[in-house]
Amino acid sequence: MTTEAGGPTVLVVEDEAPMRRLLRASLAAHGYQVLEAETGGAAVIAASTQNPAVVLLDLGLPDVDGVDLTRELRGWSRVPILVLSARGREQDKVDALDAGADDYVTKPFGMNELLARVRVLLRHAAERSGGDAEPIYRSGELVVDLARREVTRAGVLVHLTPTEHRLLALLVRHAGRVVTHRQILEDVWGPAYRRRTHYVRVHMAELRKKIETEPARPRFISTELGVGYRMREGDGPDGA
Ligand code: CA
Repeated sequence: MTTEAGGPTVLVVEDEAPMRRLLRASLAAHGYQVLEAETGGAAVIAASTQNPAVVLLDLGLPDVDGVDLTRELRGWSRVPILVLSARGREQDKVDALDAGADDYVTKPFGMNELLARVRVLLRHAAERSGGDAEPIYRSGELVVDLARREVTRAGVLVHLTPTEHRLLALLVRHAGRVVTHRQILEDVWGPAYRRRTHYVRVHMAELRKKIETEPARPRFISTELGVGYRMREGDGPDGA
């Protein structure tokens, strides 16, 4: 089922034929090899035998729940999973992300946005396999040096509390991808705090005051309504 050789392989898990065709055509036009699965069962077989570089996963499948499938894949694979979800199903997205999906796009989505998300996932996967050195994140005038625990804006040192630093570091490590409220609470405060959503709101507001020029119109950290937050992808090869 693969097209011309060369690009990374994308496994498209989607039961609707028109959507599969659209994804295949767009991905192939951008040099990707495309595998298709109509069911969760077929997806598991394809993922375990064909070693795709990324999985596009529709949550509404005929045989299994997409969230359960995400959890199953995550049990034995670190392949990046990008969830395709119908509009208005915030909780589905959150559940999928908490189950181990890396990101999501909402249907109907713009193909350019989907392709950009795929590139982010592939880049992060490449970085992960390239070692554990912490890259320096740069986005406009914001520079975050995780190894030195140093944050500057327009060359001026930004003083963060330890909690704010942990929060920012988590978002920087996932730059370009969404991080759920629960992931933030578990990572920054610990598993016992996963329901204290207001912690995130309060500390995010403080963090934004320090790094954003206009905290009410954030440029670096965007709010993913009902889901979590997304740090802007870094600028250059040093920051991406
Ligand atoms: Ca479907």
